[in-house]
Amino acid sequence: MIKNLITLLFFLGTAQVNAQLVILQYHHVDASTPPATSISPDDFASHLQLLEDEGMQIVDLATAMQKIQAGESLPDKAVAITFDDAYRSVYDTAWPMLKERQWPFTVFVNPAFVDQQYNSIMSWDELKTLQDAGNVIANHSMHHKYLIERPADIPLNDWMNQEVEAAETRLEEKLGTSHRLLAYPYGEFNLAMTAWLKDHNYLAFGQHSGPVGKVSHMQAIPRFPAAGVYANTKTLRTKLYTMPFAVGPQQLQEPVLPDASLPALSLTIPLQDFYASQLQCFASSEGKIATEKETQADGGLKVRTQASEPMPGGRSRYNCTAPSKAHKGWYYWYSQLWINKSVANR
Ligand SMILES: [Zn+2]
Repeated sequence: MIKNLITLLFFLGTAQVNAQLVILQYHHVDASTPPATSISPDDFASHLQLLEDEGMQIVDLATAMQKIQAGESLPDKAVAITFDDAYRSVYDTAWPMLKERQWPFTVFVNPAFVDQQYNSIMSWDELKTLQDAGNVIANHSMHHKYLIERPADIPLNDWMNQEVEAAETRLEEKLGTSHRLLAYPYGEFNLAMTAWLKDHNYLAFGQHSGPVGKVSHMQAIPRFPAAGVYANTKTLRTKLYTMPFAVGPQQLQEPVLPDASLPALSLTIPLQDFYASQLQCFASSEGKIATEKETQADGGLKVRTQASEPMPGGRSRYNCTAPSKAHKGWYYWYSQLWINKSVANR
């Protein structure tokens, strides 16, 4: 009996690790572009070496997301690599390094900028070449606007059609493919947009950090930014060993805040394979924050967390983490995005 129970727990634990994915987000791979969104070729090489040394399995994002949704397993330690904005350095510098290892990747593109033949951005021919080599070219919206700042005279449906659907149509015209995968410009979204995208069959990716699993909100999929201040291989390594908390889509809170507000995040998490006593939440603006925990009669853990200072202008997040019991060295992770729109360029 005990032995069967242990076997069952082992299987449950293993299944959790296998049906999940860590997604890394990059922009430029170039030492001379803006540091906040760049990683140098040397540092990028170190990242790839780290992924290899840690035995990470680099998977195709589109296929992996289909499998996660279908409840199929992924390789242990699955990681997907993504690039936003289709910068030329991805073609010239990152691709040769990835090709050497035969690792696939995804590029999120703004079709209007490709059409305008921006010098820093890949051409349709180059994107097609990447696609033909086994990579995915997907949607980063038409013009890279702050999508949460919809003009008052444009209904949501029109706005999403002109910024998202039109971009998808253009990708299909130029490349013959439509994956219906959207990376939000700046990683910004609101609940109304997530509902529209769900209705229109899109999966949508932010940049609010965290791993993704079957239970995750499929229109608020986290990615780990891996460049700029996040390029350090030690902090990157920590993120590779993360698993999603079983926090369902209905627990996503509206990210867009009234100015200078002090949001509270409430979560209910089934008490499974994590040390509840070590569950701790952090605010990107201040580090460790007050984290109240209460065990429910039904075996769930109720968590309430709040920073001590209002969210600064721009994007912030709360991250909650707890170590796994069954998988030593792995952490469960959940992030909530907050946006204080008071800063125009954020
Ligand atoms: Zn972008």
